[in-house]
Amino acid sequence: MLLSTVIDRAGGTGYNHRVIMNSERRPSILFTRQEIEAAVKRLAAEIRQDYLGKNPLLIGVLKGSFMFMADLVRLLDFPLEVEFIRLSSYGRGRESSGKVRVGQALRAQIRGRDVLVIEDIVDTGLTISFLLDYLRKKKPASLRLCTLTDKPSRRQVPVTIDYLGFTVPDRFIVGYGLDWDERFRYLLDICVLEDG
Ligand code: 5GP
Repeated sequence: MLLSTVIDRAGGTGYNHRVIMNSERRPSILFTRQEIEAAVKRLAAEIRQDYLGKNPLLIGVLKGSFMFMADLVRLLDFPLEVEFIRLSSYGRGRESSGKVRVGQALRAQIRGRDVLVIEDIVDTGLTISFLLDYLRKKKPASLRLCTLTDKPSRRQVPVTIDYLGFTVPDRFIVGYGLDWDERFRYLLDICVLEDG
């Protein structure tokens, strides 16, 4: 599907037309907003079952997880706490170097909490492995990972994913919070970027 399809589905607003004018890479739909909604509902049901009564701490990894986190939390109708963490990678372009830095310290107490990390994508696994190790050192009661998407074909280090939305092919994906150079986050569908 080409960009025109994305624009039709997005409602054809002037905002979306900026994509046509400025982009040399075209998004085409991989997962529709309806498929995303179904996946988020499924994940929320699984999380609710496991965390009800535990007052878990959900930590979203910025920036890509913000939309997923918002939709997920709306479906979790029980006491929980929300935090965000910003990580910087020293990688170039789409390659992750594995050298990661925590950009902003967490305010919430981790020790003794049931912590659930909310990610947008696990690719090589280097970033999330770093974060899970960082959090584990703070002695949470439990530590699990929920990711919207997983690209297992590019994995460099093993990662245990406890809650998974979609497995994606080895393509660069954008939309539903995920960006390419800060663009395309607003797309309601998860798309792959096509050249030219
Ligand atoms: P890692 O390779 O360490 O697992 O992933 C590092 C980061 O690269 C992810 O958190 C995400 O921000 C970014 N990333 C990896 N693959 C993709 C992709 O297909 N699309 C987008 N938008 N970001 C990606």
